[in-house]
Amino acid sequence: MAALAAGASAEAAMAEHLTALAPTLEAAGRLATLESLRTPSPPAAVFPVRGRVDWGEHDARFGAWRGGHVHEGQDVFARAGEPLVAIRDGRVVETGDDGGRGNYVAMWNREARRTFVYLHMLHPSRVSVGDHVRVGQRVGAVGCTGSCWGDHLHLEVRRGRGTTGRALDPLPLLQRLAARRAHPE
Ligand SMILES: [Zn+2]
Repeated sequence: MAALAAGASAEAAMAEHLTALAPTLEAAGRLATLESLRTPSPPAAVFPVRGRVDWGEHDARFGAWRGGHVHEGQDVFARAGEPLVAIRDGRVVETGDDGGRGNYVAMWNREARRTFVYLHMLHPSRVSVGDHVRVGQRVGAVGCTGSCWGDHLHLEVRRGRGTTGRALDPLPLLQRLAARRAHPE
């Protein structure tokens, strides 16, 4: 009987203890939730060129008149050999080497419904058609192959899958990513 009473009172004490702890446990739960929110997940997009870059002059801009055609990308000048990385996750949909584009690679992102095309790379693409690339993965290096004056990445952002969709101005996205690179959160 004494043991039972002791047991009952121990149980009561434990209940009281847990009741007293409840706000703390709840706070701990909230902290854990906050912590998981803070756990860094990879960014959806990163700046495509490592190292120092220069935006060039007016004719580097999307839409600049190039005597016979309109410039369909944004040029980002950097030293030859600087790594080029995938701006987003994507699927490689085209690679090649021709007199105009030089060594190039096109990566399609399903969520954004955009294809990102890198021109004038130093070497043939390191990735192949059908490959899945992850954001930030190295896909090539800055160069000046094809029709090019001065080492740079010519970036095109095209609507839809492939290299023939309507070209969009890459600069707003590039500037946003450059700012994030300069001041990481
Ligand atoms: Zn260009």
